[in-house]
Amino acid sequence: MLRDSFGRVATDLRVSLTDKCNLRCTYCMPPEGLDWLPNAQLLTADEVVRLVSLGVERLGITEVRYTGGEPLLRRELADIVARTAALEPRPQISLTTNGIGLARLAGPLADAGLDRVNVSLDTLDPATFKRLAHRDRHADVIAGLAAADRAGLRPVKVNAVLMRGVNEHEAVPLLRWCLEQGYELRFIEQMPLDAQHRWTRESMVTADEILGLLSEAFDLTPDDLEERGSAPAERFLVDGGPARVGVIGSVTRPFCGACDRVRLTADGQVRNCLFATEESDLKAAMRAGATDDELAERWRAAVGRKRAGHGIDDPSFLQPARPMSAIGG
Ligand code: SAM
Repeated sequence: MLRDSFGRVATDLRVSLTDKCNLRCTYCMPPEGLDWLPNAQLLTADEVVRLVSLGVERLGITEVRYTGGEPLLRRELADIVARTAALEPRPQISLTTNGIGLARLAGPLADAGLDRVNVSLDTLDPATFKRLAHRDRHADVIAGLAAADRAGLRPVKVNAVLMRGVNEHEAVPLLRWCLEQGYELRFIEQMPLDAQHRWTRESMVTADEILGLLSEAFDLTPDDLEERGSAPAERFLVDGGPARVGVIGSVTRPFCGACDRVRLTADGQVRNCLFATEESDLKAAMRAGATDDELAERWRAAVGRKRAGHGIDDPSFLQPARPMSAIGG
């Protein structure tokens, strides 16, 4: 198992398949994009599957989430999902995506074995979308969500980041729309992970503020039917349920004590946390001929060094060198 020195066990593996993205959301990267990883540095599909197999078959990983950058840009995605679904014991397989291209790919991905999807959508207004993401692709995302629902990738979850003065006034309309469509909405506090290093505590719309905005229109009751466990979202029943909304207060309501996550970057580095400053290089070891036993040992040792928490509130906190898109959100 992947156990750290505080007794937490990592069972949820987030795998970034590429650092590239076809959007330029302001809280993530600049309009001109970033210096993408050279192809030779990306794990090949076979290397991804080898490491995921190791995680699932030897190290106790039970859930695999593919992310990026934008994972739908990775041409071998359906093949990687199918090979993940063939593992024993079969892990839960999910995808975090901006939804562009999902209208075409939701069916094939569901057929390949994808179980669930989280689609990022911060606004209902195409003009705000264009301003926020620097691309005019709002309709593609809406179509992608509908296709995911039709393909049975349920519950379809929607991730939204609110920004002061940009879309915070959309908290209530976003929830109303998601309730109408049957999607589960989760608001994520904006984190200091933008490539531009522009994040400030003042500009972040906090979990408390989000709940305050929603409470003006909805009756929210903490959903204690289900234990929160290691889930990052605090969930609330909306108007008595059964519909729910989640709020992920990564900054103001950290949940590190229950964290069960470990990450693999697109260039094969194990990271214990979005905010980790240390990585462990499985790709170099693999390409130098390491055996499965040696890779598993390296991975175990890396998780053993996991820190107690992300430390954003620590005076010594330093934003990690890699932005969110290069880590895998
Ligand atoms: N491209 C995919 C997507 O849009 O979902 C997957 C990668 S993206 C980095 C994953 C999630 O991270 C998205 O929901 C995005 O909104 C969120 N995200 C990116 N930068 C963030 C930040 N600085 N703070 C909070 N969430 C962020």
